[in-house]
Formats: sequence, structure tokens, C-alpha cells
Amino acid sequence: MDKTKKHVAILGSTGSIGTQALDVIEANQDLFEVEVLTANSNSELLIQQALKHKPNAVVIANENKYNEVKGALGSSDIKVYAGVDSLSQVVEMDTIDVVLTALVGYSGLKPTINAIKAKKSIALANKETLVVAGSLITALAKENGVNIYPVDSEHSAIFQCLVGEFHNPIEKIYLTASGGPFRGWKKDKLISVSKQQALKHPNWDMGAKITIDSASLMNKGLEVIEAKWLFGLKEEQIDVVVHPQSIIHSIVQFEDGSMKAQMGLPDMKLPIQYALGYPQRIKSNFPRFNFVECPSLTFEKPDVETFRNLSLAYKAMSKGGNVACVLNAANEVVVEAFLKDKIGFLEMSDVIENCMEKSTFVAVPTYDDFVSTNEQGRMLANELIK
Ligand code: NDP
Ligand code: MG
Repeated sequence: MDKTKKHVAILGSTGSIGTQALDVIEANQDLFEVEVLTANSNSELLIQQALKHKPNAVVIANENKYNEVKGALGSSDIKVYAGVDSLSQVVEMDTIDVVLTALVGYSGLKPTINAIKAKKSIALANKETLVVAGSLITALAKENGVNIYPVDSEHSAIFQCLVGEFHNPIEKIYLTASGGPFRGWKKDKLISVSKQQALKHPNWDMGAKITIDSASLMNKGLEVIEAKWLFGLKEEQIDVVVHPQSIIHSIVQFEDGSMKAQMGLPDMKLPIQYALGYPQRIKSNFPRFNFVECPSLTFEKPDVETFRNLSLAYKAMSKGGNVACVLNAANEVVVEAFLKDKIGFLEMSDVIENCMEKSTFVAVPTYDDFVSTNEQGRMLANELIK
């Protein structure tokens, strides 16, 4: 094993973040080595990636695909595992330095907990893990001396602005939001939007779930909660500003009134590379931003009356306990339902709010409480959609 390189496990390597992470690693083979790749059911791409990057192990969460993956990789010395439990166990391998969590939703929680307990650094794309169980994850990370490096572009921006500011308290942060495909739209138009319209993001090419979350502003809501945990902030210290060009990725305001912003073209490879390479800035050939080609950077207030999810996320954050876990569970169910044409765009917020009101409140949740809250939240949401 080459100890001069960082050995990376990519959970969700076949997704939008996962494939871009592999591009970053491929361009920097002197710095990184792929240790583990995982997919849910896209066996074909997982096999292709494994043959190219030669990881130590791969995991396919869908057990029905095990034979196919094993068959294709059988003649190599790549270990092949299947099932959800393997996903959580594989992160404990001795050879891993950093685990990039690029799974979608609640499924990231258990593997992230295990990776932290095994003292692996975390490059965190899977924001839902912090939304579901931020109290537990941050406490575990502290206890194990584990660093969590943000991959989400806004949080990477804040993190980059904080370099060298260790002793200077944050007064406030501004998370920027593109506003998504429906920026400026009102309820009368939103009531009948289709999934095809919602899946067309103006600035970013991402997985389906986060693209719908961006259209409904839930993504920004989840990011507000993610920021609270990553940077130890209070609700009133986190603000959202709509910035349709997605050039300024977020802003920190310090106690002397000075503001630092991080900017660049919208390209997830940059925050992925920063999280994997920290503290080093690795030379890249990503396209550079040109001021003259984009002379106008604009800012607006988010319309939280039309896009209620952002207010619901603030509400969940201020209630604390397990409420954000309910918000996340209900959101996962409604997004899935919206993608199957079973629920309208605006109805998603109604279901989420209803679930938040009906679920059992737990003030100081344990891991088991989060598991049962997630189940209850999903059940309530499913009942409301029927
Ligand atoms: P994708 O849907 O593109 O990819 C998800 C990956 O996780 C795939 O490899 C998928 O496997 C795997 N996966 C999904 N569900 C499960 C499951 N239940 N069990 C095991 N594996 C699973 O998502 P993204 O890459 O867009 O997003 C990943 C995370 O990063 C999300 O939390 C998102 O919010 C966050 N993020 C994404 C950004 C982006 O630009 N895409 C930006 C900022 C944050 P398979 O291919 O087999 O389905
Ligand atoms: Mg983001």
C-alpha cells in the first residue's frame, strides 16, 4: 500500500458526485487511490468503474445483482460484497483514509456512523445524514477526533472562507441559492408543474432527488440544517440569499462586518477536490470564471411563502430533537411520489408539514430513536399520499 497517497472509499460511486469524484481521482493519480466503490443497483457502471480503477473492494447494495458483479470481477482480485450491511461494514477496512459519502438520503446514515467510529475522515456530500442526525454525527466525530470535510458547494465555500479564521467567531453566514427552475413562479403556475420541468436545473447537473429538492427549495432547507451542524451555528446566524448565476457559492460575515465569499463557475469537481485534497489546493484545469462574460451578479430574497419547504426546514431546526429527521423522511417519500406522478409539486410541502405535526417528538434522540423516527415519518407520509 502506497502511504504517500490518500486512499478513498466512494459510497455511491455511480452517481453524479461519485462519477465526478472518480474524474478528480483519475486526474490526480499521484495523490489519490481508489479503495472502495459502491452502487445501489447500477451493476454495469460499477463493474466498468472497478475494472478501470482497480479498487480493493466493491459493494452492490442490491443483492440480486451480486452474481452479475461477482461474475464480471471474479478473475480479478477485487473483493465483491452485496447488501446494505456490507455497505456499512466495508468503510471499516484498514486501508481506507477517507470516506466520500455520496449516497442519497437516509441510506448514508449507518455507513457514515461506522466510518466515523473507525476513525476515517469524512468527505460529506450526503447532507441528509446531518439533517437526520446532526447531533449524533457531530458528537461522534468529536469523540473520535474525526474531521468532516464538506463537499456541498455552499458549505465548501464557507469552509474555504474560514481558513485562517480559527479564532474569529462567525457573525453570520449567507448560503446562496440559485432559485432553481421555478424562480419567480407563483402558486397558480406551480400547482401543475411536471417532473420533467422540475428535473431541469438551470445551473447544475445532479441526481434526481437533489434536483427536485432544488426546485422545491427543500435542498436549501436541508443545507441550512447541514450548516448549523457543520459550523456550530444558531438558527439566526444562517441566512439564505437567491443568487441565480451560482457564481458566489456562499458568504461568511465576521464580527467586524467584513464579508468573505468564495466564487467560481458552478462545477462540483472543485468542492469534491478541495474536500479530498484538504489542506492542499490541487492545480486543476477546470474552466475559470470570466468577469466580463458575466458582468452582473444579482441577489434576491427567497420567496418562502410560495416555496414553503425552506420555512419548514427552519421550523424543524428551531424545534430541534428529531423533527428534522421527520422532515427528511417525509421529504424522501414525497419526492419519490412526485417522481412517480403520485403527488403534485405544491402538495409536497403540505405532506411534510403534516408529518412534522403528527410525529412523536423526541427531545434528545439516540440512534434507535432516529431509526424509528425515520420509519414513522415515512409511514405517515405514505398514508397521507394514498
Ligand atoms: P445520484 O442519485 O446521482 O447518485 C447516488 C449514488 O448513491 C449512486 O451511486 C446510487 O447507486 C447510490 N445509492 C442511492 N441510493 C442508495 C441506497 N439506498 N443504498 C445504496 N446506494 C444508494 O445522487 P447525487 O450524486 O446527485 O447525490 C449524492 C448526495 O450528494 C446526495 O445526498 C446529494 O444531496 C448530495 N449532493 C449532490 C450534489 C450534486 O451535484 N449531485 C451537490 C451537493 C450535494 P445507483 O447508481 O446504483 O442507483
Ligand atoms: Mg449545495
